[in-house]
Amino acid sequence: IDANDDYAALLSGRKAHIGRNLSISYKKPLKIIKGALQYLYDDKGHTFIDCVNNVSHVGHCHPVVVKAMQRQIATLNTNTRYLNDAMMDYAKALTAKLPSRLSVCYFTNSGSEANDLAIRMARHFTGNKDVIVLDHAYHGTSTLAIEMSPYKFDGKGGGGQQPYIHKAVSPDLYRGAWQYGDADAGEKYAAAILKLLHELKQEHKGPAAFICETLLGVGGQIPLPEGYLENVYAHIRAFGGLCIADEVQVGFGRVGDAFWGFELQGVEPDMVVLGKPIGNGHPLAAVVVTEAIADAFNNGMEYFNTYGGNPVSMVTGQAVLKVIEEEAMQQHAQQVGAVLLEELKALMDKYEIIGDVRGHGLFVGAEFVKSRSTREPAVTEINHVVEQMKERGFLLSTDGPLYNVLKIKPPLVFSEQNARDMVAALDAVLRAEAFG
Ligand code: PMP
Repeated sequence: IDANDDYAALLSGRKAHIGRNLSISYKKPLKIIKGALQYLYDDKGHTFIDCVNNVSHVGHCHPVVVKAMQRQIATLNTNTRYLNDAMMDYAKALTAKLPSRLSVCYFTNSGSEANDLAIRMARHFTGNKDVIVLDHAYHGTSTLAIEMSPYKFDGKGGGGQQPYIHKAVSPDLYRGAWQYGDADAGEKYAAAILKLLHELKQEHKGPAAFICETLLGVGGQIPLPEGYLENVYAHIRAFGGLCIADEVQVGFGRVGDAFWGFELQGVEPDMVVLGKPIGNGHPLAAVVVTEAIADAFNNGMEYFNTYGGNPVSMVTGQAVLKVIEEEAMQQHAQQVGAVLLEELKALMDKYEIIGDVRGHGLFVGAEFVKSRSTREPAVTEINHVVEQMKERGFLLSTDGPLYNVLKIKPPLVFSEQNARDMVAALDAVLRAEAFG
């Protein structure tokens, strides 16, 4: 980075005035100055295909979303203590996409804030404090969200696990105790949670909530094993806890076969947490809960959020839903995702270094290993591949507890041609590096 003369002033300014524990993508950083749908443009006239930004869900600067925001911000932006149509219209449209029992919305400004609120509500409702999370999970950056995120509290600078947080093993069919081909893997991973619940009970405690992503993001781009949530949710409910689905990364049609990740598992959560794609990059997030949970939370202390639910955010959310619907983006994610998975699996046949390809719709991961038999993570190699892909115009990144999973979750406008071009570029990079 220091050697990057072009951006020396920007980099030193950033060092002086911006929080220091914030990384920059790529060895040679990019200065991105414009975005349009699945494309990003730098200050040197290069065009990049964004293969990784699941926030700009319907595409960077989608004109329908931008126009709706412009119109509203020129009309009114204020807090939610006045009556206003925008909030009602959006709450109705959003809950119409969810199971009917999820009918009460709390609007916030970030996924972290929404998860934090979800846990507070679960604690009110159940009278319990303990929370069960999945190992390696990330749920946000507030104090409580970090307490719920093994990815943070177990990592460098993390404060360790709080006594009221319990980590369940990640249901990873590639690396875990039960792997691909085991038809009962979902049930077996769920049994690990049942064991935790029994241990809690021995201490005369019960769970406030179980929370997990409905496909694991930071945990390594992992679709959940069949039957997993059905079993986990039954166990949690039997012990008096609530089931929270963190849909921050995967919701809003990305998985193609369904609008929400939890639908792939055939379950109905007690609360859903929504973020990132919900506002296409505008700071909007939400918790949606049942009547009973909302009633329990209405305990005398007001819940007021200065920006949450403001009319600009509400029309933004409404415009995102409209674009997903009108441009049939869920179906598009399904079709393009299928091509992408097929092409990546074909690449896996050619290169030993790709140990596993998995995903659903446009939420895909490819795990890089030094050898298929040892499954040793190929971290240096994958980092090099990500840099080389950038040179070829494709923006990607890595994820997973071992930092060796190529993360692919583009804006949903990502086309079949983009998918084929990206895989062809990956093929060329792997060939050039002789990563057999
Ligand atoms: N939940 C999940 C699954 C996430 O991936 C993130 C952000 N990466 C969050 C919550 C937190 O969202 P935000 O950054 O909007 O606070």
